[in-house]
Amino acid sequence: MPQRSNSHDIAVNQSASSIPGLVFGARRAIFLDRDGVINQNRPDHVKSWSEFVFETNVLPALARLASLHLPIIVITNQACIGRGLVGQEVVEDIHRRMVVAVEKAGGRIDHVLYCPHHPSEECACRKPKPGMLLEAAQRWNLDLSRSFLVGDAITDIQAGWAVGCNTVLVKSGRGAQQWAALQQGELQQQGGHPGDIVFNVAEGLGAAAYWITQQLAYEQLEYALHQAVPQLAIEA
Ligand SMILES: [Mg+2]
Ligand SMILES: [Zn+2]
Repeated sequence: MPQRSNSHDIAVNQSASSIPGLVFGARRAIFLDRDGVINQNRPDHVKSWSEFVFETNVLPALARLASLHLPIIVITNQACIGRGLVGQEVVEDIHRRMVVAVEKAGGRIDHVLYCPHHPSEECACRKPKPGMLLEAAQRWNLDLSRSFLVGDAITDIQAGWAVGCNTVLVKSGRGAQQWAALQQGELQQQGGHPGDIVFNVAEGLGAAAYWITQQLAYEQLEYALHQAVPQLAIEA
């Protein structure tokens, strides 16, 4: 039986001060689900690095996100550990290699948190519960309501919604099927009233990264206008 604590993570980049350019107030972050967002889903789980295949356009998307100077944090359910299908050390090895591959392509992942628990354990970290988001918020001193979350499952969106994140459902991985089921009302019975949740939809992480970039640009523009307009009024 592998030793387990409640939370499992590899803190790739623990130094908060290494992330420059936090322009507006409290720290915000970009949360990414792993399977179906960063790498291709496998029905039989990713059990080794050789089974880890990046989704289309993900490496350039991560490079784009890195340029936004916000912490990039992966939060992933890995119940395959609790089910005894994959060892915890294997999952951590996959994460280390993932981080190295992303950095080689000009991106970065600052922190990886994963839930190793079997669903029957009813832990606080397995999405749709927001435990991993709350843990990251404490570690990084985050304002979750100003943070972004990208996932391919409605359970990702529910976790983000529970703590007020700006969420994006991508159609990669399980996303297209989840989106179709949601539109047909088939997911209404799952917890968290997904039908009431407001979220954005993007084709994949590339489009989601573009949308997040735009949101931040709009905010900066709005901020600049607020600074500029009173001065103009005085001159007039
Ligand atoms: Mg997923
Ligand atoms: Zn858990």
